[in-house]
Amino acid sequence: MVREVYIVGNWKMYKTAREATDYIEKLVPKVEGFKLNIYLAVPFTSIAQATSFAKQTQIVIGAQNMNDARDGAFTGEIAGLMLKEAGASFVLLGHSERRRLFHETNEIVHKKVVRALQDDIQPILCVGETLLERDEGKAEEVLKEQIMHALEGISKEDASRLILAYEPVWAIGTGKTATPKMAEEAHSFCRDVLIELFGKKVGQSISILYGGSVNADTALQIMAQKNIDGVLVGGASLDPDTFAAIAAHCIHK
Ligand code: PEP
Repeated sequence: MVREVYIVGNWKMYKTAREATDYIEKLVPKVEGFKLNIYLAVPFTSIAQATSFAKQTQIVIGAQNMNDARDGAFTGEIAGLMLKEAGASFVLLGHSERRRLFHETNEIVHKKVVRALQDDIQPILCVGETLLERDEGKAEEVLKEQIMHALEGISKEDASRLILAYEPVWAIGTGKTATPKMAEEAHSFCRDVLIELFGKKVGQSISILYGGSVNADTALQIMAQKNIDGVLVGGASLDPDTFAAIAAHCIHK
């Protein structure tokens, strides 16, 4: 089964709109001709400018979060339709920083996935276990619950539009990457859960990305694993040279 391959940069709360356009200008020539989906999840304020700047390039701009309501009296929140109009093509949902720091539950993540699909924004659903959960032997139970709950009631057709990202919480921003074997085991498990939910054809077609301290030294081995279809890169995506070097390791898939 040939699946789409992705590299996704998650800038978190870094870079102004001007810095975003400077970055894209530097990145474009470095990744020219790469047969790869290159996504950047930028801060809300950079989406419109980054999108118009990235037009005619292979770089796709998206967001890092959205509210689950269509609209409403939710001061400080942002709706999918607003993101869409600003130019966002995809949105990260259920990132562990959202779950941990902003108390997003599996139910909230589920509602956001449903809304993003309704608003025609491609969801990148992030799942992952904490170190404690792994040490207690509960990693698979946690992953299954996160995936099942977030994707409950989603049709096969909608499921084929989304991307899954396995991001062990203990590897995010810590410099600790899962070993390629560990990551492959988790991806293979996530793949089985997707097949259980959506059947073989759709379950095997969904790309699963690995995230957690990926850098130019670790990307190649990670990408060599059978069930790893790309990487979600946080800290190392902030520098266009490093991001392009990681992208160069993803094109051989
Ligand atoms: C992330 O924020 O999704 C991430 C993977 O971060 P980092 O690469 O910095 O661990």
